[in-house]
Amino acid sequence: MSIAENLAEVNETVRATALSAGRNPAEVRLVAVSKTWPADRIAEAAAAGQIIFGENKVQEILEKVPALPDHLEWHLIGTLQKNKVRKVLPLCAMIHSIDSLSLAERVNRIAEDLELRPRLLLQVNVAGDEAKSGFSPEKIREEFETILALPRIEVAGLMTVPAFADDLEEVRPFFAQLRSLRDELVEKHDCALPELSMGMSHDYRIAIEEGATLVRVGSSIFGQRDYSQG
Ligand SMILES: *Cc1c(COP(=O)(O)O)cnc(C)c1O
Repeated sequence: MSIAENLAEVNETVRATALSAGRNPAEVRLVAVSKTWPADRIAEAAAAGQIIFGENKVQEILEKVPALPDHLEWHLIGTLQKNKVRKVLPLCAMIHSIDSLSLAERVNRIAEDLELRPRLLLQVNVAGDEAKSGFSPEKIREEFETILALPRIEVAGLMTVPAFADDLEEVRPFFAQLRSLRDELVEKHDCALPELSMGMSHDYRIAIEEGATLVRVGSSIFGQRDYSQG
């Protein structure tokens, strides 16, 4: 299958899943995860109408943005090192992976320098898995007010990457927990957190059923990634 055909199928699945969950399909946006794929494959997806692309490495964003059409939107979905904030900030429409207060403060400071106001998501490790990055639910409750007060960033919502599970019903509670944490923060701090970034190729249907507004889908669009090329 071509990238255009894969994209059409994923878009149709997103639409049908949203409808059957009683949601408006327009509330769910597809982030095509293009990490490891060269610009010509991304151009194919763009020609088929895809606008939002997700990358997990700053270096790949720096290389790909100049090679592709200007109307595309780039989302950083992987760990952001503090020394790369300045380079990547002007190129990203959204950063999904803010995983500490100190990173949020750093982004805020640099956004001020660059006169930007980036849209950010706070990455939450809902399972409390120590090997994974992200705020624990306790930490985010503790630090949310401080983050919300940073003037040069817009906290647009939450993101999570649950551990892979063959049985999809095992991941559903993590998505549900992210949504209820969002609802709790909105209520407590009287703020808007419209975005929930959750769901990948194998589990985005479940994520949509649990309220995802951004699904991050790579291999179902581009095929299996090959990491052997480095
Ligand atoms: C790679 C990646 C994805 C996409 O994964 P697929 O299984 O290829 O859909 C989604 N989110 C994050 C954070 C990723 O790193």
